[in-house]
Amino acid sequence: EVRIDGQCAIVTGGARGIGRAYTERLRSMGASVAVLDLSFDEEHGVDRPAESGRGALLGISTDLTDEKAARAAFAEARERLGRVDVLVCNAGGGTGAMWENSPLSMDLNALRRAYEVNVASMALSCREIAPGMVSAGRGKILTVASTAALRARSDGGYAHYASAKAAVIAFTNSLAREVAPAGVTANVIVPGAIGTERLLPKMEAMGMDSVLRDIPLGRLGTPEDCANALEFLAGPLSDYITGTVVRVDGGMMI
Ligand code: NAD
Repeated sequence: EVRIDGQCAIVTGGARGIGRAYTERLRSMGASVAVLDLSFDEEHGVDRPAESGRGALLGISTDLTDEKAARAAFAEARERLGRVDVLVCNAGGGTGAMWENSPLSMDLNALRRAYEVNVASMALSCREIAPGMVSAGRGKILTVASTAALRARSDGGYAHYASAKAAVIAFTNSLAREVAPAGVTANVIVPGAIGTERLLPKMEAMGMDSVLRDIPLGRLGTPEDCANALEFLAGPLSDYITGTVVRVDGGMMI
């Protein structure tokens, strides 16, 4: 088990889905976590104080596609945490049916929205937090792409989301290069087919058999599988690793 007691982290989109598993994992590693998300449910119990061996949890509601609101939310997170050692840019996602938005029938509004939600929100998060890490001479940044960025669907669909997630990888490369001299790292987590509440109905609509046929390890991934990669990438065992892509996809890209 990797411990980062006393450290502070920000997780965007950490109220539900895979982001929630990142949040809970960081807390059990000993870090205090500020979650920036659109909304929180009662059962999330945000603003929980630190418990023994577990970090505190703060929730800040914001829309990361609204620059002014998002800047204020990051300022609040910085102030309440006092320091930021780990930034996880997880907010994002696809929109529409998987077979929609092929390059031959692209809805430009869907394309713009995919770039706002996945690329601009991630770039803004890094811009607000990375300079402080550079000044401090330490920090770990994780961004989140998708196997969609690495391999096209056979029906051409989802090109809006795939290209947005490819941009996340390219942006993270640029960032990793720029912050490396200060000792700050930046890496990308690339989930495959993870069975979250949001994605399960889409996979069921596509046919679960065809989804599973595509995964050599023969099962859907879980948010915990993604959190296992995060535990390595957010802690000291990955100190010499930057600018990499870690796939959590059951071998889907082999
Ligand atoms: P999810 O929809 O379950 O959770 C996303 C969270 O981000 C939600 O809490 C949502 O409220 C928040 N969010 C979305 N837009 C926001 C905004 N503008 N401002 C603030 N918060 C916002 O998604 P998930 O399946 O857990 O996916 C998490 C990340 O992993 C996403 O970037 C997604 O693209 C990526 N991913 C997921 C899968 C998968 O199989 N589920 C596969 C590949 C990549």
